[in-house]
Amino acid sequence: MKWTSAILVVLTLVSSTPNRAEDKVSYAGYSVVQVGVNSTDEMVGLEAESGCVTLHEWSKHGVGFLCDRFQSPRLRRAAKSKHISTRVSTRHLDRLIREEQRSPRSADPQNNNRRLNARNKNRGRSDMLSHNAYVGVDGIYRFLDALQDSYPNVNVKSIGKTFEGRDIKVVVVNEGRGLPKLFIDAGIHAREWISPAATLFFLDRLTKVLSRRKSKSTPPTIGEKYEWHIVPLANPDGYEFSRTSDRMWRKNRRRFSDSKCVGVDLNRNFPQGYGVGASKNHCSEVYQGPSPFSEAESRAIKNYVEQLQNIRVAVSVHSFGNVLIYPWGYTNKPHPNQRELHRIASSVANAIRNITGEVYQPGTAKQVFGNWGIAGGATDDYYITKGILYSFTMELPEQGADGTEHGFLLPPSNIKRVGRHLSAALTTLAIMANNN
Ligand SMILES: [Zn+2]
Repeated sequence: MKWTSAILVVLTLVSSTPNRAEDKVSYAGYSVVQVGVNSTDEMVGLEAESGCVTLHEWSKHGVGFLCDRFQSPRLRRAAKSKHISTRVSTRHLDRLIREEQRSPRSADPQNNNRRLNARNKNRGRSDMLSHNAYVGVDGIYRFLDALQDSYPNVNVKSIGKTFEGRDIKVVVVNEGRGLPKLFIDAGIHAREWISPAATLFFLDRLTKVLSRRKSKSTPPTIGEKYEWHIVPLANPDGYEFSRTSDRMWRKNRRRFSDSKCVGVDLNRNFPQGYGVGASKNHCSEVYQGPSPFSEAESRAIKNYVEQLQNIRVAVSVHSFGNVLIYPWGYTNKPHPNQRELHRIASSVANAIRNITGEVYQPGTAKQVFGNWGIAGGATDDYYITKGILYSFTMELPEQGADGTEHGFLLPPSNIKRVGRHLSAALTTLAIMANNN
């Protein structure tokens, strides 16, 4: 990416490991400005005029532009001349990132993992994840293994390897009982840390509820009526890179021989509407890749979903925006089942509100994000073409409980709160699909 290489500085990290140093992208002097653009043309024009880079999914009120101290006034001038609204949502991005790193529980993944290990060893149980810290790939995978060790109805498998050779793991709950299936993917965009964290909270809760001893006369809970397939971290390479090197990283870590720029936007690498709202430029945040399913990570999801029979519900978990998006995402044309999809999404939004008080807006990407939200190659569009009617993307919040906006840097004190939103949504979807 042009802008990251321009601002790349080498920092020696203060770390528990001696002599450890890594290249780290600095966002000193950077701010985020929300711009009320109405079309992709407007967005691209303002990008070119200002030199700012758009941050996709930054806000439902407009597109977030990431600007340095020189680009920001240029952007506001250019927008003003076109009567487009602007609003600074983050004045000092580097300050937010530093605050997040200072957070005692998420500052050092190695310490965190050590603590998890120690707790796991002492207790010999899976309740080692406290859900008040963002944990690295190793810590997440240790948690999954502990779940498998603790509960007989949990199986953890690898569904493929990433570009850098990490496993992409799925957790299967209630396997082999002939139940209808519910599939969840999270963390496909690296910087959206709340997505895997909230999904792990849900998984923890689901397995605990299922393990409670019941009498034979107790009717089955909704968790027992499904075979759950949960990929909590669909892009582990990107996620780890966002922890160690570039907090705002979105794509995977694919390298190309014909470009210095790294990575493909995995949620622009699926076939339905491939190329819409995406870029052919390797350096773009929304680079679609050389072809649909060119990436190991998106291919792993495809291969896994294709061999599963009877998937009733598929949910992709992202941040941010407080929205429940249903297909189509890549076109203005309504999906043939739009009314039904809207009814389901509205019921889910009502349930989240009743249970947690949080407001989520249901709609298509165009309805909730405006014209610039139209984009192809996304998981939910792919899932619905596989015959899964209940196909949704859930965008978790950027706001803390006090209403403060944090963008992708939602403090870890919100994990349980947002995990409850996700639990309410998934439980409601499971009940609705079961009754249908
Ligand atoms: Zn996303």
